[in-house]
Amino acid sequence: MRCPTSNATFDVAVVGAGAAGQTAAIAAASQGRRVALLEQMDRPGLKVLASGGGRCNLTNLAPLADYIKAFGRQGRFIVPAMGALSPADLRRGLVQWGVPTAVGEGGEVYPASQRAADVQAALWRRIEQLGVAIRLGCPVRQLWIETGKLAGLDLSPRDRIAAAKVVLACGGQSWPKLGGTGGGFPLARQGGLEIRPPLPALVPLITSERWPARLAGVSLPIARVWIEARGQDKAGRHGGVLFTHRGLSGPAVLDISGAVSELLRRGPVPLRVEPVAGMDASQWGVQLDAWRGSAGRRGVAGLLAKLLPRSLCDVVCEQAGVEPRTAIAQLSASRRDALAKVLGGMELAVTATEGFETAFVTRGGVDLRGVNPRTLECRLLPGLHLAGEMLDLDGPTGGYNLQWAFASGWLAGQSAAGEQRI
Ligand SMILES: Cc1cc2nc3c(=O)[nH]c(=O)nc-3n(C[C@H](O)[C@H](O)[C@H](O)COP(=O)(O)OP(=O)(O)OC[C@H]3O[C@@H](n4cnc5c(N)ncnc54)[C@H](O)[C@@H]3O)c2cc1C
Repeated sequence: MRCPTSNATFDVAVVGAGAAGQTAAIAAASQGRRVALLEQMDRPGLKVLASGGGRCNLTNLAPLADYIKAFGRQGRFIVPAMGALSPADLRRGLVQWGVPTAVGEGGEVYPASQRAADVQAALWRRIEQLGVAIRLGCPVRQLWIETGKLAGLDLSPRDRIAAAKVVLACGGQSWPKLGGTGGGFPLARQGGLEIRPPLPALVPLITSERWPARLAGVSLPIARVWIEARGQDKAGRHGGVLFTHRGLSGPAVLDISGAVSELLRRGPVPLRVEPVAGMDASQWGVQLDAWRGSAGRRGVAGLLAKLLPRSLCDVVCEQAGVEPRTAIAQLSASRRDALAKVLGGMELAVTATEGFETAFVTRGGVDLRGVNPRTLECRLLPGLHLAGEMLDLDGPTGGYNLQWAFASGWLAGQSAAGEQRI
């Protein structure tokens, strides 16, 4: 492993050895550039290793239009990066580097071995083959700017390296133990970039209600969850919901958690959970009537347990003011309506998220208006490029965030390498 030493000169210096920084280093070094890669942690790629529960959901084969939608209001920003390294390109590259991949039902791509470590090892092998100078355990303190021009990086008061091009790929603030320290934002500010307030996203939610704790560990495989507030998408998200000791988690909840994080700045956020996606209050009314006709002597909770976890049936009955063992034929019209209403959308109030410690990604970060999407170069400080999660973009679960990190890293590395060598 070669180490960049004080006063060494490189064509491109990459800060951060996560998914984005490693692909940036590979892209730049593949074009014959002298590249340095600097990482504050003692090991590279800690999030790649932890991703997908150690299985690494590295991309998703969804069409570009779905990606744009998945990244929200600013989704079009990703288009040039996705053109530089599409999900198919990424899979092809990984096969060439010895990591064949497998595709799940929803287009999620994993290494065929189901081992994130294989993906990280392949990236690192490539970095070493290309002769990238590596320094681990090396937090970059400042950009070195000389008479208004980018000149390199300050590592410590007596330790700097020269590089006309710098790629910042420092990630966000999520999972500090894996390097999510927000350590890149002060560097981006030096380049004149604004930072939109970082917020936890893809994060479990804490509710004011205590009843989810009684169901901790219980999951609903295909539920629907939505934010009951003006301007929010009433369709919400369909997918798994998991009850926790303090509230809610599971893919559908995680996917709306970034929006919840934003709204929490103004107070508690009302949420609704439809335990069986697509079964609204009127559908449940029809179902309850059908049971009344076919199984009138059976208890309400026992019947609900055909479609819902038993422990949830008791909670639903409680909220509707129905004694769980009441024979369904004995249910009054008003209790029947109350039950159908609860089943069509259980009300909860979110008071907080579980925070950056457990957030899979960061919402907010470097304001995109300061960055050219075609080159990922800073508009105010030429030569400074940015990639990955530190930019103000975050996607849902399913491989979207790693795809963005890989693709933007690739484009930033290529763009940084593409211009004149120093
Ligand atoms: C537990 C977990 C599981 C996840 N699973 C998935 C998944 O399966 N699929 C998916 O798509 N996404 C997943 N994500 C999200 C995904 O991992 C991230 O979005 C992605 O890794 C971001 O890559 P990045 O390179 O931009 O940032 P990071 O991976 O955060 O890398 C940034 C690097 O920069 C370093 N750094 C920061 N500041 C400095 C500095 N000043 N000097 C030197 N180094 C610095 C950090 O130490 C870090 O190593 C998961 C996230 C977590 C936390």
